[in-house]
Amino acid sequence: MASLSLTKAKTLKNGNLFQHFVDAIADTSTLLIETPTGERYSYVDMFSLSAQIANALVARGLKPGDRVTVQVEKSVMSMALYLGVLRCGGVFNPLNTAYTDTEIAYFISDAKPTIFICDPARASGLGAIAAEHYAQVLTLDADGKGTLADHASTQAASFENIICAPDDLAAILYTSGTTGRSKGAMLSHHNLLSNAKTLVEVWRFASSDILIHALPTYHTHGLFVATNTVMLSGASMIYLPRFDAGQVIDLMARATSMMGVPTFYTRLLDHPKLDQKAVKSMRLFISGSAPLLADTHHAWRERTGMAILERYGMTETNMNTSNPYDGERIAGTVGVALPGVSVRIADLETGLPITDGGIGVIEVKGPNVFRGYWQMPEKAAEEFRPDGYFITGDLGRIDSKGYIHIVGRAKDLIITGGFNVYPKEIEEELDALDSIGESAVIGLPHRDFGEAVTAVVVLASGDAMTEQAILSLIAERLAKFKQPKRIVFVKDLPRNAMGKVQKNVLRTEFAGLFGEG
Ligand code: AMP
Repeated sequence: MASLSLTKAKTLKNGNLFQHFVDAIADTSTLLIETPTGERYSYVDMFSLSAQIANALVARGLKPGDRVTVQVEKSVMSMALYLGVLRCGGVFNPLNTAYTDTEIAYFISDAKPTIFICDPARASGLGAIAAEHYAQVLTLDADGKGTLADHASTQAASFENIICAPDDLAAILYTSGTTGRSKGAMLSHHNLLSNAKTLVEVWRFASSDILIHALPTYHTHGLFVATNTVMLSGASMIYLPRFDAGQVIDLMARATSMMGVPTFYTRLLDHPKLDQKAVKSMRLFISGSAPLLADTHHAWRERTGMAILERYGMTETNMNTSNPYDGERIAGTVGVALPGVSVRIADLETGLPITDGGIGVIEVKGPNVFRGYWQMPEKAAEEFRPDGYFITGDLGRIDSKGYIHIVGRAKDLIITGGFNVYPKEIEEELDALDSIGESAVIGLPHRDFGEAVTAVVVLASGDAMTEQAILSLIAERLAKFKQPKRIVFVKDLPRNAMGKVQKNVLRTEFAGLFGEG
């Protein structure tokens, strides 16, 4: 304790995010992490573990600004690794655990890490790739064991946090890259700190909070939104390696909050044990990373008596908007701009602001917005307006109450016979039909129309419906040019780990539907 207060006093001006966590915690003996197997780690335990890791990394030559690329399972040790990298001024570069060796080879060649950490089972294949790029290899498995843990265990449990400028890089997160190469979004200590401070305030996080953490930690949602918010408020979290609806419902009795992707909520709704009693100690359910269907929001309210708070953000910008804590949480909207963040709608082509409630591209500016793409200055230049707004690529509108509605990605906009069709509008009409579980509307190559509006539909369980019957049900509700030319039926929509529907997969699969593929 004495050495911690000393560190606090010496480094008050330090921009290092980790130092801000230290300064924010009133009582470091309180619980930070609990695992489902009953392991408990206080703040001071995690500070010690992260110090040992920082010492181990520095002993292997890590210098401020060096990248540490990490492909490991979520564990208490992987959380300590994130903190350890922050402490020594390194740049944390987590990768999706699903990536193959070929994909990892690209990330290593791009990030050029000093140290690469992976699961021991993959060390031989990935080790050779890392060696080609002069990266040292350490290992860490799902139980927190491996050469990293071995080295760390011999190190001192204190570490003087490296002094960072607020704009120094804390992390590089690669975007999912559904088109072209993945881009490394560079996030500074201040990007992360400013956003976490805002979220603590608007979502009222406090040391009494216990967050159910079932998200992956290679993505901004689980890594920054959840973990940084918890650490900056002195709260604690129940750290689950993966999401399991029954387990989460059981844990709700002793938690206060959960952050999830929409699929968490639909799976919880499918579980018979979800009811008002199950959620009685919970104060907040947050959803993001993909659109939460209005139906899901309403069904949740009916079953639990609580309104899910939906927010909107992205890897490059951290969080941008949120439905209010106290005010009205409106289904199908992502709420209003967060304090300190400016959000505007602009014409995609001209960049001129749209202020009449019309649809355009969502642009954001604020301390949350990233510092560009790693080694791709030209890409970043293309995606910023001259006055500093970042062009998100999401299409949306702002309603008369100031709430933002997302209508899809710009690249998903369908242009059919010269008309613009926003997939969300058609999806909402389809989803409103009782016999439809969910839908994804895409544009497919078509000789006459350029693109043909096509609906990919999952029927509600037990329902049988023909293409013609669905088309006639929506015919009166949508202009002719918006009506799907075809409806195809699938068992499930393809989704990535964050619950986003992968429309690129559908576009490839059905490319030849109109004979143009
Ligand atoms: P990622 O960088 O993986 O976090 O993906 C960011 C993208 O997810 C955004 O640009 C949006 O397209 C989408 N997204 C995030 N939150 C929401 C939300 N609440 N509703 C709709 N789309 C969202």
